[in-house]
Amino acid sequence: MSVLDVKKYPDNVLKGKSPAADPADPDLRRLIDDMIETMYASAGIGLAAPQIGVKKRVIVVDIGREDQPLIAVVNPEIVLAEGLVESEEGCLSVPEYIAHLKRAERIVVRGFDRDGKPVEIEAEGLLARAFQHEIDHLDGVLIIDRISAIKREFFNKRYLKALRESNVGSGQ
Ligand code: ZN
Repeated sequence: MSVLDVKKYPDNVLKGKSPAADPADPDLRRLIDDMIETMYASAGIGLAAPQIGVKKRVIVVDIGREDQPLIAVVNPEIVLAEGLVESEEGCLSVPEYIAHLKRAERIVVRGFDRDGKPVEIEAEGLLARAFQHEIDHLDGVLIIDRISAIKREFFNKRYLKALRESNVGSGQ
């Protein structure tokens, strides 16, 4: 397993839809292991493959609750969504930014597990939010794409300026 670099906005790999993965592909296990290790090393509660530069529909989620173990899903699809709740949300690819986003309160996700077996997961609260966030990544959608245009403009000014300054500062 390896800890990989988490790609940051505005990296192009975070944009656009990722194609479906082959659930029977044995290489997916290695990818999932790397994603898990990278997620834990970054203290995240979820990670999507495009965040480590791999355009495949694979996500891992661990919200850190004892009754809710780590889940990896290949080709996840939301087949049911109920309720709407607003909460704070951050993203490893958009460091130091917190958005207030409305998400479905309860969802049902279908896909395949790391062994290629079909899975169906019922999720609510933080777990449902984490799934929706990671599945957004597979469609190239970031939290800053879900905020208002005015907030996004403000974000871009500050974020891109900070990015430029940190690059100049470190000479890279
Ligand atoms: Zn994210």
